[in-house]
Amino acid sequence: MEPKKVIIIGGGIAGLCSAIHCQRLGIDWTLLESSQRLGGRVGTRTIDGCRIDHGFAVLLTAYPELEGIIDLARLDLRSFQSGALVRRSGRFVRVANPLRHPIRGVTSALSGAISVRDIFRILPMALRAAFGRSIIDPDVALGLSARDFLKRMKISNQLIDSFFRPFFGGVFLDGSLGADAAPFEFRLAMFARGAAALPREGMGSIVKQLTEQIPNERIRTASTVREIIRVENGETVNRWRITTNIGEVYNASAIITALDADNARLLLPTLPLRVWCSTAAITWRVELSKLPSSLREPILLLDGDGDGPVNHLCSVTSVNVEYAPKGIALISANVIDPVALERSDEELERSARVQLSKWFSAAATCEWKIVCIERIPRALPRQHPNDLANRCKMDQGDGLFLAGDHVTDGSINGAMRSGRCAAAAVRTFLQ
Ligand SMILES: Cc1cc2nc3c(=O)[nH]c(=O)nc-3n(C[C@H](O)[C@H](O)[C@H](O)COP(=O)(O)OP(=O)(O)OC[C@H]3O[C@@H](n4cnc5c(N)ncnc54)[C@H](O)[C@@H]3O)c2cc1C
Repeated sequence: MEPKKVIIIGGGIAGLCSAIHCQRLGIDWTLLESSQRLGGRVGTRTIDGCRIDHGFAVLLTAYPELEGIIDLARLDLRSFQSGALVRRSGRFVRVANPLRHPIRGVTSALSGAISVRDIFRILPMALRAAFGRSIIDPDVALGLSARDFLKRMKISNQLIDSFFRPFFGGVFLDGSLGADAAPFEFRLAMFARGAAALPREGMGSIVKQLTEQIPNERIRTASTVREIIRVENGETVNRWRITTNIGEVYNASAIITALDADNARLLLPTLPLRVWCSTAAITWRVELSKLPSSLREPILLLDGDGDGPVNHLCSVTSVNVEYAPKGIALISANVIDPVALERSDEELERSARVQLSKWFSAAATCEWKIVCIERIPRALPRQHPNDLANRCKMDQGDGLFLAGDHVTDGSINGAMRSGRCAAAAVRTFLQ
């Protein structure tokens, strides 16, 4: 009898994790990836000696899925300071995480950045999150948005709008705070328990570490799957037929589609349509000596006034000096506002400079030279309560399993989890 074969479609984080877990479970697998490069939405390229990640992204060291699959020490992580510098009414105010920086937390309160009332509301929330306890009864949280969640916690509108909106706008790439309370609470726990960090050699080194764990000969890049068909001839071993753009045909006992929501739907039109959150990352370079002082800290700067178009900003070289040649600083400004994203590159960059010249002076920003503007229209699946309620099921029946962040949670952790769960489900199915 022919061995039971599994085809994994897609070589992003979810596909690579599916492959690693299939390999560990002794399953015979082949991975088909449409692009020449593995990693999907995670990657790092080099422009003029500067490392540019695929959009502004960070690794949260507390992600539970990293355990046993990523060697954090080998990534040689450089951490962001927790909290943020919030631009509010013409000045920067520091909002510190009281759990990770108790003294700065107190100073935030004393400087008026956070009211004492808010500190007393946030502290128990952060403590519960840090110890893995639900902040709100899960039954009550069901169907709540992040904004409703914060209101239930009696956080002031001022702190919600000036800090939580831009901070979690950057996390979900959605400035509405409309994300579901469950992924919001999960992120709070991750920020309470660990750091946000950049690997020494860029986010792409996460992909490199995953790829090293699986045999290269099982991976076919530049292989776009065009069609998957359930063979209706009573076959159980080769019940699926997969055809690629170059006419290759694969037979399989089971399939894991590890695709983004849109490409999954192209192959499986009955899947629900997902709304995307989009972003653009503008990267400038400047001589290190000319970097404004507030950008010298390894911390995120947020648009607390909501003036836009830049929602969040940092100097990535202040976090990780390895991102640029010696003496050069890189500045990454990130736009998430859908209206601003409709502007041309030139107009977007010009309006970002106008905004930031008010933050740092026109003399400072005119020294900044553009490195690139990266637009990512399909960056993260939106995660509002109704989006999550309509998520597709991992097990589609008959040996067809779905992985990818649209099945779980729009994050590296979510993509990893989807891959691990799909591989485990395939093993059970094949037994
Ligand atoms: C700008 C940005 C910032 C982010 N920031 C963070 C962050 O800070 N922290 C965090 O945890 N997460 C972040 N994320 C989210 C995280 O990167 C994604 O959730 C995760 O990478 C999704 O992985 P995936 O494997 O599910 O999908 P993808 O990465 O989209 O992989 C799907 C793969 O399938 C391939 N493919 C598509 N169609 C076909 C086909 N027909 N045949 C074969 N192959 C096909 C694609 O080429 C791709 O490689 C960010 C994402 C973006 C874009």
